[in-house]
Amino acid sequence: MMPLSCRRCGTAVLVKKNSLAQTSVQWNGDSSGCPVFAERRASEPGAPAVIPTCPQLRDSIEDAVRSGLLPVPAP
Ligand SMILES: [Zn+2]
Repeated sequence: MMPLSCRRCGTAVLVKKNSLAQTSVQWNGDSSGCPVFAERRASEPGAPAVIPTCPQLRDSIEDAVRSGLLPVPAP
């Protein structure tokens, strides 16, 4: 797994690509530091506490894949 942090909130996670379409994200601690998560919790009280990624973090992951930082196993 590769350490990566969200461009917007700086929340650190561990990321691993299982395939082009499948990404494993492991939070280092809790996700309360991310404003996207906080917003979502406020607007959707019934939403699950665990959300795999915030959109900015997803972008950061895509960038890492594009730049070759995050290896994607061949199918
Ligand atoms: Zn974030």
